[in-house]
Amino acid sequence: MGLIVQKFGGTSVKDRSRIFNVARIVANTRNAGNDVVVVVSAQGDTTDDLIAKAAEISSNPSDREMDMLLSTGEQISIALLTMALQELGVSAISLTGWQAGFATDRAYTKARIRRINTERLESELARNRVVVVAGFQGLNRNDDITTLGRGGSDTSAVALAAALHADRCQIFTDVEGVYTADPRKIPKATKLKEITFDEMLELASLGAQVLNNRSVELAKKYGVELEVLSSLNPMPGTIVKEETKVEGMLIKGVAKDENVAVISILEVPDVPGMSFKVFSLLAQRNINVDIILQSSGRGNNKDLTFTVPLSDAQTAVSVLEENKNRFGGGEVKLATNFAKVSIVGAGMQSHSGVASTMFEALSNQGINIHMISTSEIKISVIIDKQDADRAVAAIHDAFIH
Ligand code: ADP
Ligand code: ASP
Ligand code: MG
Repeated sequence: MGLIVQKFGGTSVKDRSRIFNVARIVANTRNAGNDVVVVVSAQGDTTDDLIAKAAEISSNPSDREMDMLLSTGEQISIALLTMALQELGVSAISLTGWQAGFATDRAYTKARIRRINTERLESELARNRVVVVAGFQGLNRNDDITTLGRGGSDTSAVALAAALHADRCQIFTDVEGVYTADPRKIPKATKLKEITFDEMLELASLGAQVLNNRSVELAKKYGVELEVLSSLNPMPGTIVKEETKVEGMLIKGVAKDENVAVISILEVPDVPGMSFKVFSLLAQRNINVDIILQSSGRGNNKDLTFTVPLSDAQTAVSVLEENKNRFGGGEVKLATNFAKVSIVGAGMQSHSGVASTMFEALSNQGINIHMISTSEIKISVIIDKQDADRAVAAIHDAFIH
């Protein structure tokens, strides 16, 4: 008995039968004597469909109106699921993000949760109702609707679990847990029993979409243990927590991210302050720079090459083009035919030869590496997009089997 937050993703609520399937899971949890707060995403491909609808009207819709539009998807889900719960005889009420007290910053389309005013939620729970909350959305200081970025319902669920001091936070999805690679692409991938917050944060940030990376960040910050499990196949999933038992696994997973663009600025003067000028321009636009490579100088110049999310690439190039006289006026080049493939595992901290095993697997496939970056628990390479799936399979084989 306790308070449980259960989140269901888009495929888990995609049609009538899936909605009743979710309602039964929630009803069982409730009937076992728990208080339940449910967070749901938009049904199936609804969010993508709404984005396509916007594109029919405008090639550059305003972010505010995009959030107004996208937030409707989750609103459909909460109403339908609540009706299904009521059909099953469960007392339930739906709340939008703002009714549930989600206050965010102003950043439309990628807002961050500032706080959650849980008063309404708690009063509904006190009336013995299951509360069904729309994920992915909140309200900013102007009382405008904001959304939290793709996959943001995971973050809504974890934030609620933290704010309500829930006893458990379960993320139900369409696979049985967190695997050593995307199980839809790598059939040999195996399900992990446990994974640490740090490892999961890297995997999520490096392309494993099973959990949104901000949700893992929040879970770590507030110590919210997560369980990732299937809504279709009842069995124990994967536990994400601070520390895990030593399992002797050198790496926990392989991830692929095609949302990368490589930008190069040629002939940057090799004098102090140039990197600051370049990267502060990008920081002002909230553009995350990932791997940075600086070539050794030709004469008094150097080339700067770095990666940014594909979705930010055009903005990055425009701002650099507009300001290029501040760093030498050299050519700004954009390449989008790359992907990032990464391995993650705390075990690599205490073992040598991990990088060489990864590079050997790529070399055996004749795959060329353009950039490399490492941290204590991950190694990433930038390679041609067309090689990415082959690379993941080869690297997975080298470490997991
Ligand atoms: P939801 O709609 O439930 O939020 P998502 O589509 O966002 O679900 O995330 C689940 C998907 O993540 C799976 O269907 C799977 O294809 C993909 N995925 C990628 N990497 C992994 C991984 N390492 N383990 C499990 N699933 C993964
Ligand atoms: N519906 C949103 C999306 O598709 C949020 C989510 O699913 O978590 O990104
Ligand atoms: Mg998701």
